[in-house]
Amino acid sequence: MTSWIVVAGGAGFLGSHLGERLLTDGHRVLAVDDISTGRWANVEHLRASHGTAFATLQHDIRTDPTEAIADATNSEPIEAVVNMASPASPPAYLSRPIETLEIGSVGTQNLIKVALTHDARFLQASTSEIYGDPSVHPQPETYWGNVNPIGPRAVYDEAKRYGEAICAAYERHHGLNLRLLRIFNTYGPRMQADDGRVVTNFVNQALAGKPLTMYGDGSQTRSFCYVDDLIAGINGLLWSEHRGPMNIGNPVEFTMLELAEVVLKATGSTSEIVRHELPEDDPTQRQPDITVARRVLGWEPKVPLAEGIDHTVQYFRSIAGDAQSEL
Ligand code: NAD
Ligand code: UDP
Repeated sequence: MTSWIVVAGGAGFLGSHLGERLLTDGHRVLAVDDISTGRWANVEHLRASHGTAFATLQHDIRTDPTEAIADATNSEPIEAVVNMASPASPPAYLSRPIETLEIGSVGTQNLIKVALTHDARFLQASTSEIYGDPSVHPQPETYWGNVNPIGPRAVYDEAKRYGEAICAAYERHHGLNLRLLRIFNTYGPRMQADDGRVVTNFVNQALAGKPLTMYGDGSQTRSFCYVDDLIAGINGLLWSEHRGPMNIGNPVEFTMLELAEVVLKATGSTSEIVRHELPEDDPTQRQPDITVARRVLGWEPKVPLAEGIDHTVQYFRSIAGDAQSEL
């Protein structure tokens, strides 16, 4: 029997795709999730296709998960722990500010302890948000960031920065076998239609024939990575011997106005674009420097934005009705 890989946040958008990839590669996966923003429906097909190699545990990582994980895995060896559990979209973390800080701090520490007990690898899903509103562009891993520590977004940004700090401290002082991943904006099937992120909002608004909500003048940029590319990068990092942070994202940068055009074309929608106020501390630009991932993993994103948006539109069309009525 192979040992287990624990994926916290395993019923979420990225966690469900990573679990699927790990199962396909022959690992056993325990998805731990409190279903605050994820859904068991995201992984239902994995129970059917992978039987007892896939297990689930409903648990909030802020409470010590050691015993519950031991029960769920029959106390068998754990090879890796992946921490993806956290609110991820601005509306999700802004609606649960204190919880977000607790999840990034206490929750991360609880999972680190599980990894140490089992001498397992620990992969921490950090974020480009730790660079804040960056004054270095594109952002290499050596950039320390520009975060407002008391602004509204700080509950997420600083929780993720603390998450990196505690991981680094456990690596330095307790020999944690750490992989530190900095994810840049990623999109694709199984995102929550109402998570409030720009791709889900624009796609579902366009499909419903509603106006696209443009925050600010739309000149701010993001670099969007299709989920399949991201998962290939995460899998590469997890099994590599690389130490130190690694950016994974697609370096092709778009303004939000350009993204709106891509979405309107993919959906064939004639929705108008309506301006809304720009949220406080909204970063003006963001683009990963992926020199390290290219060199260490030979990894490169392959899916262009128009193609990835097409897949995403198809997904939301396939679950239509439920999705657009929520917006
Ligand atoms: P998601 O909301 O779909 O997934 C997060 C999952 O974590 C959900 O299933 C949620 O229910 C679960 N969760 C939240 N709090 C929990 C808790 N206390 N205990 C157990 N489970 C909990 O979001 P996602 O986009 O899949 O993000 C996954 C991870 O990647 C997050 O840590 C996020 O910060 C990070 N990330 C994502 C992106 C992106 O563009 N998608 C970018 C940067 C970083
Ligand atoms: N945004 C927008 N309309 C929306 C949702 C978001 O114009 O309906 C903007 C948002 O202000 C930001 C960018 O799109 O400048 C990306 O937002 P998202 O929440 O997807 O990601 P993040 O800001 O966390 O990178």
